[in-house]
Amino acid sequence: MKWTELWRRAFNAERMSHNVSPISPLAASRGSAACPALNANVLVLNRFYQAIRVVNVRRAFTLLCKDLAEVVHVESDASGKASKWQNLDFAEWRELSELKATFEPDEYDWIHTVRFQIAVPRIIRLLGYDKLPRQDVKFNRRNIYARDSNRCQYCGKRFNTSELSLDHVIPKSQGGRATWENIVCCCVRCNVKKGGRTPEQAGMKLISKPTRPRRSPVINIRLADQRYSSWKQFLDNAYWTVELK
Ligand SMILES: [Zn+2]
Repeated sequence: MKWTELWRRAFNAERMSHNVSPISPLAASRGSAACPALNANVLVLNRFYQAIRVVNVRRAFTLLCKDLAEVVHVESDASGKASKWQNLDFAEWRELSELKATFEPDEYDWIHTVRFQIAVPRIIRLLGYDKLPRQDVKFNRRNIYARDSNRCQYCGKRFNTSELSLDHVIPKSQGGRATWENIVCCCVRCNVKKGGRTPEQAGMKLISKPTRPRRSPVINIRLADQRYSSWKQFLDNAYWTVELK
């Protein structure tokens, strides 16, 4: 049996153990909280190193096991700036993982199987996919809240999702449409105060001009986390894609 097959079985066993329904407190504690690595995200690049999406750990390992993707491992220099990267197939990544487990265990999230442990890669690259990323971010409530960082765009305070609503800056009754440029997060108090008026009519001011996000808010949130610092150079990829003269 190929070792990749062994891995696939081990990983499936792992998955099953995490899908155990919480019938006892012990079983409940075996959810994703017991294995935070399963909540990690992996940045996916196309063949030309352009960031195209973010996937979960299972999806990333599935792509690696099928040889549809390779790991792009970024090594930082002493200053913490990303300096160079290595391209590794699954077997090579597993070998490197063993070294990292010994020398830099805290730098990674780990998936433990019965037979071995492996680090969750931060970035993978699809070997046969050269399409450009989908540029548009879905226009939905979750992404609007994420764009505005759960901040009421009038009083500037942060709220829980349940305490926020969406506000048409120019009200529907005055021809305002549901677009990225006209919908903002708004707390209940400001919403009542504004009523069916424009900010000018209500004597209120937006803390920032609403715009269409350039990239998925999920990516922006992850970027704030040190663990995902290696993503930056691929998201800001003008350096790599600019035409050389
Ligand atoms: Zn408010």
